[in-house]
Parts: sequence; C-alpha cells; structure tokens
Amino acid sequence: MNEAVHACAVPVHDPVREPWLAAMRAALAEAAAAPATGDVPVGAVVLDRDGSVIGRGRNEREATGDPTGHAEVLAIREAARAVGEWRLSGCTLVVTLEPCTMCAGAIVLSRVDRVVYGAADEKAGAAGSLWDVVRDRRLNHRPEVISGVLGDECAELLTRFFRDR
Ligand SMILES: [Zn+2]
Repeated sequence: MNEAVHACAVPVHDPVREPWLAAMRAALAEAAAAPATGDVPVGAVVLDRDGSVIGRGRNEREATGDPTGHAEVLAIREAARAVGEWRLSGCTLVVTLEPCTMCAGAIVLSRVDRVVYGAADEKAGAAGSLWDVVRDRRLNHRPEVISGVLGDECAELLTRFFRDR
C-alpha cells in the first residue's frame, strides 16, 4: 500500500487539538458576528474546568470605541464575573486568532491554565509568532499553549473580511 495516499484519504487523528474543536466552533460563531459592527472577526470563549462556556467575547473595538475591546479581554471579564473572582485557574481560553501582546498579558494575569488558538498572527502574535509572552520564563505563570485548532477556518474568516472591505 502507498502510505502517503493512505494518510491523505483518512482524517488524521489529532489527540492534542480534537478536544478543543467544539469550543473553537463556539469561538468562531462569536467571530462571525463581529463584522456586523464593522469589527474584525475574532472571537473567544473561556471554558471552566468541566468544559462549560463561562465567558464569550468578540472584537468590539468599533462597536464600543474601546481600544482594549478585544475578544479575549471581553471573554476573560465575563468569565471572571461568572466565577466571582479574578483568578481563572483551571480554565481554558479558546480564541480564533493568536493573542496580541495586550491579550497575552491579560491571559497571564487571569491565571488560566491553557490558551488554545486557531490562526497564527505573524504580524502581531504574542503566543509564539512575534513574541511569546504567555510562555516567557521570566513570568511566574505560564499557561499551556495549543495552536492551530481549525486554523484554516479561523484565518479564512479574517481573509474574507479584509477582502470584502
Ligand atoms: Zn488582543
């Protein structure tokens, strides 16, 4: 048997990313709603220890005129309100685009266990692309990072938005 052909015909099992597909679809749904207010389609959800969504956010810079109105910050704020404190230990932030420096800072400060993102941001990403704020050894909290979950779909949403403008 030709192994290469076989590998292409069968979906590749990816035990690292598969557990986060449903959550990324929820984040994608948030992202898809952003262009209605002229906002760049980036969406995020925060999951608690059991995998329940406790925070949602999408880019709202245009909608609210707030330069810090990024999906991750809004999802983290909502999750903290749901939990009743600022510490989000045990939680996972799932976002369609690699976090920027501000959001990476917020992620570290929130003490989430994990950040899962879709598309890499080669121009401004702070979770591995341009910087790696979330795994900087000089900081005392370093969440686990899982990248590339539905990355093509997440990137396509952005490409389409900028092309249609
Ligand atoms: Zn950001």
